[in-house]
Amino acid sequence: MSLTLADLEAARTKLLQQFLNLGDFRPGTVSAVPRRCGKPRCRCAQRHGERHPQFRLLRKVKGKSVSESFSTPAAFRKAAQEVGEYHRFQDLVAQLTVINEQICRSRSVGSDETGWTEAEKKRLLAFIKKSHGKSRGFSS
Ligand SMILES: [Zn+2]
Repeated sequence: MSLTLADLEAARTKLLQQFLNLGDFRPGTVSAVPRRCGKPRCRCAQRHGERHPQFRLLRKVKGKSVSESFSTPAAFRKAAQEVGEYHRFQDLVAQLTVINEQICRSRSVGSDETGWTEAEKKRLLAFIKKSHGKSRGFSS
């Protein structure tokens, strides 16, 4: 069974409402990186010795991976929460994109008697040019 346009629009409204419930968010991923502390007698100094987990926030800044450490567990928990919200935000954007695409496909065009006339093509090219700031594949 496929959804009607009204169903899709209702689903979109529900999704949009979920954006209002998003908490503070920031991009990145949280992880525990195993580290050696540097003390020669520590268990971590042995070849297969257990390392110390170092809790980090990893994120990309201008294509480079940046790692941030935290002074307290509370600061790490706060960042983990914010990163979780960011993933929820991304998930909502993905769902919203899918549903909008379905809405675009199912909304009817309405009557249009113009056809692909040269004048209409010119108007459409001007419209495309205006919407990207430059024409793609056509020089006018
Ligand atoms: Zn150690």
